[in-house]
Amino acid sequence: MSSFKIAALAGDGIGPEVMREAIKVLRVVEKKFSLTFHITEAPVGWAGIDAAGKALPDATLALCRESDSILFGSVGLPDRDPTIPKEQRPERAALLRIRKEFGLFANLRPVKLPKALSYACPLRPERQGDGLDMLVVRELTGGMYFGQPKKTEDIGNGVQRAIDTMVYTTPEIERIAHVAFQAARLRRKKLTSIDKANVLENGILWRETVTRIGKEYPDVALEHMFVDNGAMQLMLKPTQFDVMLCENMFGDILSDEAAALAGSLGMLPSASLGATSGGQTFGFYEPAGGTAPDIAGKNLANPIAQILSVALMLRYSFKLNAAADAIDGAVALAIDQGFRTGDIYNPAETTAKKVGTTQMGDAIAAGI
Ligand code: NAD
Repeated sequence: MSSFKIAALAGDGIGPEVMREAIKVLRVVEKKFSLTFHITEAPVGWAGIDAAGKALPDATLALCRESDSILFGSVGLPDRDPTIPKEQRPERAALLRIRKEFGLFANLRPVKLPKALSYACPLRPERQGDGLDMLVVRELTGGMYFGQPKKTEDIGNGVQRAIDTMVYTTPEIERIAHVAFQAARLRRKKLTSIDKANVLENGILWRETVTRIGKEYPDVALEHMFVDNGAMQLMLKPTQFDVMLCENMFGDILSDEAAALAGSLGMLPSASLGATSGGQTFGFYEPAGGTAPDIAGKNLANPIAQILSVALMLRYSFKLNAAADAIDGAVALAIDQGFRTGDIYNPAETTAKKVGTTQMGDAIAAGI
C-alpha cells in the first residue's frame, strides 16, 4: 500500500505551529518516495470546544476512525475557563477518550541526544558517549493506574485508607513484550526489561512472561533489571540502553527521567500503538511536551518533536522505514548544520544559527 489516511489534530497552543511544519515535511516525503498521504485536519482540545462545543468533537472522532493513524499536536490551556468540569477538560476528554477508543496499549518514547547538543544534557559529557539513543516502551492500559479495587475508604477513628491495585494478566504482558522485541529488532537488538521481581508478584510474572516471549526473538539480547537500579543506571550509564520495557507506572517515571537527558521537550516524539490487524498498526503520534502557552504564537516552538512523531508514524504504522530514516536523517543534518530553536540554543556555540519554528521546518524539509 502506498496511500495512507492521516487525521491531523493540531490542538492548542503551539500545536498548530508545529503541526504546520510536520505537514510541510510529510509533503516533501510524499513527493520524494512517490507516496500518497490523505491528510485531513480537524479541531481538538480548546479548538474543538470553540468549534463544536466538545474537546473531541464527533466529527473529529469519526475522522480518526476512518484514518490509518492520528498525528496529534497537544491540547490544554491552563488559563482557560477553570470552571469547566474536569471530565470535559481537553486533557481528559480528548486524550484519554482517544486512548480508550483505539485501545492504545503501547507507548513508545524515543530519547535521542545528538552529540552536537551535548550541552543540553544534564549529565557530564563523558557519560553521554557519542550521544544518547534509546527507546522506552511503556505498557499504557494496565497496572496500578487501572487495577481494581481502587478507592479511598474510612476505616474508623478518623483513619482513611487508600487502595490502588497493581494487576497484570499474561496476555497484557505478552502483547507489550512483542511490541518491545519488534522495536528492538528495528534498532540495536538489545532489550532491558524493567521490573521489581524481588518484591512484587507482578514483577515475577512480568519477568517470567518476558523471558518466555524472548525465546521467539533469539536475535534480540534480553536482560532484566530491577526498577530502582534502572533509575540509577539511566543517570550513571545511559548509553548501555537500547530498548527499555516497562509496566505502566515504572514506564511513566522512567520515560520522564530518560526524557530529561535529551535536554528539551521540543526534541521528543512519542507513539501510542493499538493492536495490529492485517499487518496494519493503528497509532497515535504526538510530541512528548504540551501546548507551551508561554511561547505559543511567537514562532519560537521547536517543531522537531512533531516532525520526529511523523517519522515514528511512518515507521510503526505504515512500515515505511526508508522514508522514516530520511526524516530522522534530515533532523540530524539540520542539527549538524547549526540550526537551533531557542530551547536548544547555546550562545557559546559559534556556529549556531538561532531560528524560529518555520525556519527549522524549512531546514528539515530541505534536508529530506
Ligand atoms: P509544556 O510541555 O507545554 O511546557 C513545559 C516547558 O517546555 C515550557 O517552558 C515550554 O515552553 C517548553 N516546551 C514544550 N514544548 C516545546 C517545544 N516544542 N519547543 C520549545 N519549548 C517547548 O507543559 P506545561 O506548561 O506544564 O503544560 C501546558 C499545557 O499543556 C497544560 O494545559 C497541560 O495540561 C498541557 N499538556 C498537554 C499534553 C498533551 O496534549 N499530550 C502533554 C503535556 C501537557
